[in-house]
Parts: sequence; C-alpha cells; structure tokens
Amino acid sequence: MATDPAVATTDGEPCDVFIAGGGMVGASLAVALAGLHLRVGLAEAVPLGGPGQPSFDRRTVALSRSSQRILDSLGLWSGLEPEAAPIRRIHVSEQGRFGSTVIDAAREGVPALGYVIGNARIGAALWGALNAARGVALHVPGEVQGVEPAGEYLRVLVRRDAGVLAVPARLLVVADGARSRLRAALGIEARVRPYGQTAIIGTVGLTRGRVGDLAFERFTPSGPLALLPAGADRYAFVVTRRTDDAPATLALDDAGFVGVLQAAFGNRAGRFAAPSPRVAYPLELVTAAAVTAPRAVVIGNAANGLHPVAGQGYNLGLRDVAALAEVIADDVRRHGAGADPGADAVIGQYGDWRRRDQRNVVAFTDGLVRAFGVDAPLLGPLRGLSLLAFDLLPGAKGLLARETMGLGGRMSRLARGLPL
Ligand SMILES: Cc1cc2nc3c(=O)[nH]c(=O)nc-3n(C[C@H](O)[C@H](O)[C@H](O)COP(=O)(O)OP(=O)(O)OC[C@H]3O[C@@H](n4cnc5c(N)ncnc54)[C@H](O)[C@@H]3O)c2cc1C
Repeated sequence: MATDPAVATTDGEPCDVFIAGGGMVGASLAVALAGLHLRVGLAEAVPLGGPGQPSFDRRTVALSRSSQRILDSLGLWSGLEPEAAPIRRIHVSEQGRFGSTVIDAAREGVPALGYVIGNARIGAALWGALNAARGVALHVPGEVQGVEPAGEYLRVLVRRDAGVLAVPARLLVVADGARSRLRAALGIEARVRPYGQTAIIGTVGLTRGRVGDLAFERFTPSGPLALLPAGADRYAFVVTRRTDDAPATLALDDAGFVGVLQAAFGNRAGRFAAPSPRVAYPLELVTAAAVTAPRAVVIGNAANGLHPVAGQGYNLGLRDVAALAEVIADDVRRHGAGADPGADAVIGQYGDWRRRDQRNVVAFTDGLVRAFGVDAPLLGPLRGLSLLAFDLLPGAKGLLARETMGLGGRMSRLARGLPL
C-alpha cells in the first residue's frame, strides 16, 4: 500500500484505537467503544448512502439472537426493532429429495430464532449513534492507505481530501472487508477460495396472503436458496447460481425471475409477484492466516469472508466486536488512564477467545456448501437421509439452532445483555 510522496502529510492527534473501515463491523465496534472514555478514530472510504457503499447496500441481513442482544446492549435495538421481521421457524429442504427439517423457536425456548433487517437500516442506526458520540474522531471519506511501526504506536496513514493524515494509534483494528488491503500491509496472508457461485439478492412480494415468520432454506442442484420474511408483504431472497449461469438469471425479466423462484420453492411460501431489481455477489471463502499482529487486530470479513448460505458473516463479525470491546474494557478497568488496548496481553486475549468460534463457523458454513454443493453429486442420497435423520435426532437441531443463533461457545457480556 504505497502512499503518494507528492501529497502533503500532516500529523494527527494520537488515539488509543483506530478502526480502518466503517462498514457493518467497523462501525459497530466504534459504537461499542464510544462509552469507554478512549480516544477512538474511524476512517471510512465511502460515506453511508454514498454511491458504491459496499457494506450498507440493498442486502438484508438475518441477525442471530446473539446479534440482536448485542445491538440491544449497544442501545440500538429499540430503534431497529419496528423494522425488523422476526424469524420463528426455518424450513430446511432439498429440491427433489424427501427429507426436510424445521427449526422452531418455540422448541428452542426463545421468542425468535433471529430477525431480518436491511443493511442500510443498520447503517443508519450505527452512523446516527456515531455522529452523536463523543470521543470518536470520524474520518469520512477517509481511505487508510498504509501503516508504519512507530514505537508504542502504529502510524496509520489516512488519505483525506486535503492530503494524508498520519494518526498514531496504540491499536489498529482492520475492518476493511474480505478483500482487505490493510491485512496484506500488515504481512498477514489470506486464503481465498472462489466457490464458483454467485448470490443474486433482492425482495419479492406475494399475489395474496401475508408473509409470516417462517424462513426457507432450500438446497438445489445449482446452489442454496434462502427466503426470509422481510415485513408483512415481502420476502428477501438469496438465490445462488453457478457463476457461469448467473448472467442468464440476471438477464431475466420480472416474470421470468418469478418463474425461477416459484420453480425452486414450489407453492410452500405462496405465489410470488413484483420482484425488486436483482443484485449479484460472486462468492468466495476468505480466511486470514492470523487475526492479530503487533498492535493490530483483524475483524469481520477481513478475518473471515463467508458464503452467505447460513447468514453468518455479520453475526460472526459482531461477536468479534463484542469480544474485542470486552477485552479492551477490562484493560481500561484494570489500568485506568494507563490502559493500552494495543498491548500484547490484550490482543492475545482477543485471539485466544475468538479462535474456536471463528473456526467452527467457517467449518460449518463451508461444510454446508460442500455437503449440499453443486460439486458433490454423489452425496445426494446421503444428504436426503441426513436431513431426515436430522429431524428425528434429539439434540441435533438444538445444537444447529444454538450455532445459528450465535449462542454456542463463550458469550460476551454484550451478548448476555450486560454493559461492557
Ligand atoms: C448476498 C449476501 C448475503 C448476506 N447475508 C447475511 C446474513 O443474512 N447474515 C449475516 O450475518 N451476514 C450476511 N452476509 C455477510 C455480511 O454482509 C458481511 O459479513 C458484512 O457485511 C461484513 O462487514 P464488514 O464491515 O466486515 O465488511 P464490509 O461490509 O466489506 O465493509 C468494509 C468497509 O470498509 C471500507 N473500506 C475498505 N477499504 C478501506 C480503506 N482502505 N480505508 C477505509 N475504509 C475502507 C468499505 O468502504 C466498507 O464500508 C451476507 C453477505 C452476502 C454477500
């Protein structure tokens, strides 16, 4: 990440934590840290609502129960709840096979398995909170172009309209997405494995009747599909296609696209009508070889960029946020004004805490894609059986439901509804 030597560099105020990337995960961390009396900096290259903003776009996100609790602990949920559609049951099936399974909130003893809400709506809540927060210096638009070691600090180079600002930071948090350039600048390698699949997203209405609280996950020969309640009269869909076939699906007119959805889901979710414009996302698995480096932590998609089959990406990233905020808060509690969020001990605690959850979610998500994937035709009969067996197996669904709800493993204070 080279900086232009012709551009003037000025020194910025030192900060305790500097966050590179103010998308879903980076902005969530900034909100979490805002109450800790630390000097926090955040640079975001593309402002909320700006053209091409890659995080707060037209997608909807299925929030796990743990994410809902974290957002509640951050004081954001009461504003989001009126627009969030609860998922109380998930119907999982495979096209052309007999087995299916239903995960049910009532059976899990929870009011909802998760909630569906627009990414842009979450963005508005996060950035609303950040604009009102004290102690958070916002550099927007501001593109982090490089980082240099500087003793007890890292020097973060932020490109702004007026030139480059060099901000000394005790801890740099890398939250610039799956194709992170900063991760590489820190010398952390990433494994990138394309799935050969493209997700096509949007929303669709019904000719009659209302959308309930039932979500559908359906595995088809061309990839997994999801249909999520997104309000009283619309579903959000994620349709996966082989990347070679995606342009043909994207070229379909509304009637043709509704035909594709109807053929995939049958009539179990109703008769579809009035689809929104469709948007495509090529899918790949990106895993960072390490999530910590001296005075730096990598979180969210920059650490683990997942297939959306199980709706886990932001949920996992938000658990990164809650864990990192907690180890930083504990350090502040222990050391007061002498706290150092970039100290090896703090970073080490974070890495130890997050390793297991991240590995499990990557393995679970990737395993789902492979087991039901387009490249595993011989598994067919076995998969039908496993879905059936899954329905009959006591405990199995509870385990999957707990993972899906983000309630497996060590829980952060924020996910337990407690303050930092
Ligand atoms: C089709 C689809 C459906 C999904 N559905 C779900 C779901 O239901 N549930 C779920 O939990 N997850 C879901 N996800 C995953 C979720 O969208 C991501 O996990 C989440 O957006 C990751 O957020 P992030 O902030 O880590 O990265 P990003 O969203 O990529 O944000 C990175 C931010 O960093 C900024 N940036 C980049 N470089 C720089 C720089 N050098 N300087 C400053 N700023 C920079 C970018 O402008 C951007 O705002 C889905 C993903 C896809 C593709």
